[in-house]
Amino acid sequence: MSALWDLPAPERAPEGAPNAAGLGRAALKALAASFGEPAFRGDQLFEGIYAKGWMEWSAFTHLPKKLRERLQAEVRLAWPRITQSLASEDHSTKHGFELEDGKQVEGVHMPYKDRTTLCLSSQVGCAMACTFCATGQMGILRNLSAAEIVGQVMAMLAHHGRPVGSDGEPDPLNLVFMGMGEPLHNLDHVMAAFAILTDPKGLALSPKRITVSTSGLVSGIERMGAFARRPRLALSLNATTDEYRSRIMPVNKAWDMEALAAALGAFPVQSGERITLEYVLLKGVTDSLEDGRRLAAYAKRFPSKVNLIPFNPHEGSGYEAPAEARIQELCRILIQEGVIVSVRRSRGQDVAGACGQLVKEGQGRPR
Ligand code: SAH
Ligand code: SF4
Repeated sequence: MSALWDLPAPERAPEGAPNAAGLGRAALKALAASFGEPAFRGDQLFEGIYAKGWMEWSAFTHLPKKLRERLQAEVRLAWPRITQSLASEDHSTKHGFELEDGKQVEGVHMPYKDRTTLCLSSQVGCAMACTFCATGQMGILRNLSAAEIVGQVMAMLAHHGRPVGSDGEPDPLNLVFMGMGEPLHNLDHVMAAFAILTDPKGLALSPKRITVSTSGLVSGIERMGAFARRPRLALSLNATTDEYRSRIMPVNKAWDMEALAAALGAFPVQSGERITLEYVLLKGVTDSLEDGRRLAAYAKRFPSKVNLIPFNPHEGSGYEAPAEARIQELCRILIQEGVIVSVRRSRGQDVAGACGQLVKEGQGRPR
C-alpha cells in the first residue's frame, strides 16, 4: 500500500482555496512569500498572469516545478465565469459574469476597426438611483473588488482574443467604466484595478485609454484628481438646470451643477486632456434647444467635449429618445458654439447591452 505522501497532489486547488486571479503585484509577492519563495517569484507570477495571459498553472514553466505543483494544488486561478454572451448585430457582445458569491455583473466587448473598447462594471447595482437608468432601479448590492474588475477584462480578452493590427502589434484597448455602478463610489478598488491594468509589465494598458464615468460625486472627483497616474474623467451631466438635474439624478441634491463646475474647473487636466460631458437625451425632458445652448455654455467653462447619448429604452422607464432631427439640431448648436461634440450611437441595443440597460433580472429590488 502506498503511503499518503506518495499519492499525487490534487490536480486543482479546491473551492475556497486562495485565488490568484486579479491580484496585484504586492499580493502576489505575499503569496510567494507564504510559500517561502523570494519576492521576484511574485513578479514572475504577475507577468505570467497579465503579460502572458496564462490561465493554468501548468503554463507557468518559468517557475520551478515544485512551486508550480504547489500552486496547482493549493491556489486557484479562477476568473469571473462568463455565464451568458449575447452578440449584437453590430458585433458588440454583452457578457454576463458570475462572481464567486453568485452575484452577476455585465460587461460589453465592442470591437472597432482599429481598437477595441470594453465597458466594465464597478459595482453590483448602483446606489445613485438615476431615474432613466436600469441599473439605478435595482439599488446597490455591493462593490466589486479590484480582482473582479480586472477579471472582466481578462475574461473578455480570453473569450475574444486580443486583435492584432497589420503591424503585428495588438490593437489599442480602451476601457470605460460605464457599465453597472458608480465607479467613484468604489474608487479604492477601481484605482487598484487601474494599477494592475496599466502596469508596464502586465497588460500595459495606456492610462489615457481608461475612462471613469461618474454621475457627479464631487468628493470622488477631487480624490481621483489627486492621483498622479489616473484614468480620464467623464461626467454624466444629463441636464442643464439644477431643477431638471435633481429630478432625474438625485446626486444633484448633494452636489449641484455649480459645485460640479467648480470641481471640474479645478480638475488637474494634462495638456490635450478633455473632460467628457455625457448627456443623455430624454425627449421632452432634456432635449430643448435652450438645453443645447445652456449645455454649450457649461461645457466652455473647462476643457471638455460633449457626448450626446440618445436615451436607450428599457422596460418601464417611461422615457423616449428624441427624433433624429432634434439630435442634429442640438449638435449644430454645440458646434456653432465651438464645442467638440459626438453622438454615441449605442452599440448592443438589440441585446440590451447599451448604456443604462445593464441590469440583471432577479437580483434587484422591485421598483
Ligand atoms: N455610474 C456612472 C457610470 C455608469 S452609467 C455614470 O452614471 O456616469 C454610464 C452612462 O450611461 C452614463 O453617462 C449614464 O448617464 C448613461 N445612461 C444610463 N442610463 C441610460 C439610458 N437608459 N440610456 C442612455 N444612457 C444611459
Ligand atoms: Fe448609477 Fe450611473 Fe445608472 Fe446613475 S446612470 S444609476 S450613477 S449607473
